Amino acid sequence: MFKSGFIRSKVAGARGWSAIALTILSLTACGERAAPLIEIDGPTMGTYYSVKIARPPAGLTTEGLKPGLEAVLDQVIAEISTYDETSELSRLNRNPSTDWIPVSPNLYAVIAEGQRIAALTDGAFDITIGPLVNLWGFGPESRPETVPSAEQIQAARERVGWQKLELRASPPAVRKARADLYIDLSALGEGEGADRLAVWLDGQGVTDYMIAVAGAIRAKGLNAKGQPWAIAIEEPRPDRRAVHRIIPVSDRALSTSGDYRNFFEQDGKRYSHEIDPATGAPVDRNLGSVTVVGDSGRVVDGLATALMVLGDQRGPALAEAQGLAAYFIVREGDGLRGFGTPGFQSEVEGDERGE
Ligand code: FAD
Repeated sequence: MFKSGFIRSKVAGARGWSAIALTILSLTACGERAAPLIEIDGPTMGTYYSVKIARPPAGLTTEGLKPGLEAVLDQVIAEISTYDETSELSRLNRNPSTDWIPVSPNLYAVIAEGQRIAALTDGAFDITIGPLVNLWGFGPESRPETVPSAEQIQAARERVGWQKLELRASPPAVRKARADLYIDLSALGEGEGADRLAVWLDGQGVTDYMIAVAGAIRAKGLNAKGQPWAIAIEEPRPDRRAVHRIIPVSDRALSTSGDYRNFFEQDGKRYSHEIDPATGAPVDRNLGSVTVVGDSGRVVDGLATALMVLGDQRGPALAEAQGLAAYFIVREGDGLRGFGTPGFQSEVEGDERGE
């Protein structure tokens, strides 16, 4: 008997608002007059995007901006989606060559970041994890969500390993050690989408915006009330939505990964979509979510997943050693305990105190 904790998008095509969403709130002083605000949202990448623009330059409208924003997201999908069979990544995954394969600079940049985080985490983060993600039913291949056999896991594990993928920067190319290597960039893709929207909005002369592609956020400038954009980190609970804490974010990227939205249960045990390459199975720990704050959406998106995979002991140790601004929420019995690294405390909690 299994039950899903997730409205799977393989049929519906979009996950609506059920993915890890960081509620965007406006920290406003009572009675303050708000500046003009444009709000745009819609489905993308099997989840959603949302853009808020405060003090938009003259002439910019929702109707004028929306097609441009969605063209940017469609371009990211065309480059790095494993859910789109025609994307550059899907074609790369199907390419049986073990010689150098030229790739676009954009695809190369995301793969290179994945390999950087793989090295940083000693392979806990691994963009060649795709065969295991698909085997466990969390990828584009729709299949019953059920626990695979040890033989199936072993067969998929043989195809996985970040060191089986070699990179050449100039001209950009990759070389697979196995013809059936399968790259999955989902852990970085929402952040990549947020970054690319930020670049596009900068090009439109927009100075104050908050972009969310599911749990990946880019915030610049101030909200309509002239204050930092306020991002709510959810409690990592599958049964209800509740705010754990609200943090002010300005000129920063932020991303949350967790085990509480995308999972299935079988025989009372929960299996979530973060897979430990060391075991070939979903991580099974008390860590409910990790939020990372930094400069780049792509980077913080990947790091949040990486720290989830590392768990509540190795994750904070690595984050602290690397000087990352990371916030962990750990389940303790029926309760939750949140704690930030020193980097998070100085960056975010300093802002909360108005420093
Ligand atoms: P994150 O924590 O950010 O990432 C978790 C994901 O990372 C896992 O689902 C898995 O894919 C991967 N992963 C698991 N373990 C590891 C590991 N050890 N190392 C590295 N990576 C790991 N979904 C749909 O249902 N339909 C779509 O049409 C669709 N289109 C997409 C298009 C694009 C361009 C991208 C990037 C994703 C798309 N997705 C789609 C997937 C989906 O929206 C999310 O990206 C995905 O579920 C993971 O995002 P997250 O924020 O939930 O989790």
